[in-house]
Amino acid sequence: MSQSNPQIIVLGAGIAGLTAATHLNEKGYSVLLLDKGRGVGGRVATRRVKDFPANHGAPCFRLDRPDVVQVWKNALASVAFTPAPLGLDPRAYVCAEGISQLPKALAKGLTVKLETTVTQIERQQDLWRLSTSSGETWEAPKLLITAPLPQAAAFFRTTDKVLEQRILHAADTVRYSPQWTAIVSWETGLGPEIETSYLRLAEGEAMATIHEQVPRKIWVIHASRTWTEQHLEAEATTIVSTLSQELMRHFPEAKPFVMQAHRWRFARTERPLEQSFMDWADRPGLALAGDFCLESSLMGAAQSALTWAMRQ
Ligand SMILES: Cc1cc2nc3c(=O)[nH]c(=O)nc-3n(C[C@H](O)[C@H](O)[C@H](O)COP(=O)(O)OP(=O)(O)OC[C@H]3O[C@@H](n4cnc5c(N)ncnc54)[C@H](O)[C@@H]3O)c2cc1C
Repeated sequence: MSQSNPQIIVLGAGIAGLTAATHLNEKGYSVLLLDKGRGVGGRVATRRVKDFPANHGAPCFRLDRPDVVQVWKNALASVAFTPAPLGLDPRAYVCAEGISQLPKALAKGLTVKLETTVTQIERQQDLWRLSTSSGETWEAPKLLITAPLPQAAAFFRTTDKVLEQRILHAADTVRYSPQWTAIVSWETGLGPEIETSYLRLAEGEAMATIHEQVPRKIWVIHASRTWTEQHLEAEATTIVSTLSQELMRHFPEAKPFVMQAHRWRFARTERPLEQSFMDWADRPGLALAGDFCLESSLMGAAQSALTWAMRQ
């Protein structure tokens, strides 16, 4: 068993997990965040391309839930954010240095263990015991899971079939959609002079839309749902070459260079569960929260996990 187990484990250091952990930490709980990623943020992720921050997950966020804004207060004070440019959600904000500044600021002062992939969860006496791919185990009386529902269900595949089925049922209800995103860098000039961030690359069946230009020379492309589903299992290298060809066909005078593609298997949910979080009287101490509960957004994810945290 690992040393110094916490009072509460939060699985997932995305926006939901970080918001809950911030609040619990302020309340005086010892909280441990576990995440399989190399950094915090989950679907809020930025890569630096030619010195520019390119957001290849969510590009912007709203600040329309007062409880969340209160918990984010210190983090927001240390992050430069401005109203989103034309083409993005008009009620949202963007971070000049990339949206990952927000989860990074939230994580300050929290105990986060990265590159830790949880593989199995079971109940042992009054504790939730998490096993990881590296053979470590962590235990706590309370556990908040913020991984997407299909991934959460898999934790219980061999330890709690009933719970696995309950979570899978919820996953069917919310219906996740996947999304390929790609970061494109233009080799020549400043790139094509386009006024809209939502240019269609293919006629008729939308293949992809240009979602963000940071600045004109770097684009982040979000593939449409239909196109993503058709190419879901393709290798990232195939996506990169397909997108490059499409861009060159569209803008023959400019030289696009598709830098990298990222598959978000559980990008967004179609409809929320419409409950703040999931828990069960016969599984005490355990809850699931995230964007699938209230709204598929940073705010929705944060509010869901925070509502659980406020009740602890
Ligand atoms: C392309 C794209 C564009 C978007 N655009 C917007 C937008 O403009 N505005 C907006 O508000 N929202 C947007 N969203 C949605 C928004 O990003 C999500 O709703 C929100 O980030 C979800 O946060 P979360 O904490 O619930 O989940 P996640 O961010 O998915 O966090 C879950 C965490 O759990 C971790 N995890 C999963 N499995 C394991 C495991 N086995 N072991 C350890 N850790 C694990 C993951 O690494 C991850 O960090 C967008 C999403 C995508 C993909």
